[in-house]
Amino acid sequence: MNNHSILIDNLVFAKNNEQLTGVLTLADFPRLAELLQSEAVHSVASNTEVATSSIIYTLQGKTDAAGQHYLHLKLNANLKTTCQRCMGEMPLKLVLDFNYLIGDAAVNDIEASEIEGSDDLDLQQASVAMDVKALIEDEIIMAMPIAPIHEQNCGAIITQSGEKANPFAALKGLIKP
Ligand SMILES: [Zn+2]
Repeated sequence: MNNHSILIDNLVFAKNNEQLTGVLTLADFPRLAELLQSEAVHSVASNTEVATSSIIYTLQGKTDAAGQHYLHLKLNANLKTTCQRCMGEMPLKLVLDFNYLIGDAAVNDIEASEIEGSDDLDLQQASVAMDVKALIEDEIIMAMPIAPIHEQNCGAIITQSGEKANPFAALKGLIKP
């Protein structure tokens, strides 16, 4: 994939019921990549982590009968992170759905108060150059578990005492003085 920004005029996008779909990788999301890799203990695996992560997105514009403009964002992210219990590699699958009401500057106040009580509707500022990739990255980062742990097949628990296994210990016997 490339690192070009995906910019849309979100009001026009919604008015025309446009749809945008694609597959992005961690190369498109430097902040997210950094977050995932800083958690990774096995830095050797980092390159493969980048290669195997994918984020499939669908952005759908919508205008309702009342003339309100909406965006619907669907994300299907397959990421690799590090289990915070066994420190092993852990696949992380996020399936996310977001609905945004596009705020028209003229009626912003009304709309902001309308959506205040709604859990599943966020306000998105009307913009002629809304950064779709930045939005996707923000939403994934917000959805990331703070301390992900394997639900099944978790490896050995590493004690919190700091007595982590020395990766070179196994080599000791092999090295002749
Ligand atoms: Zn684990």
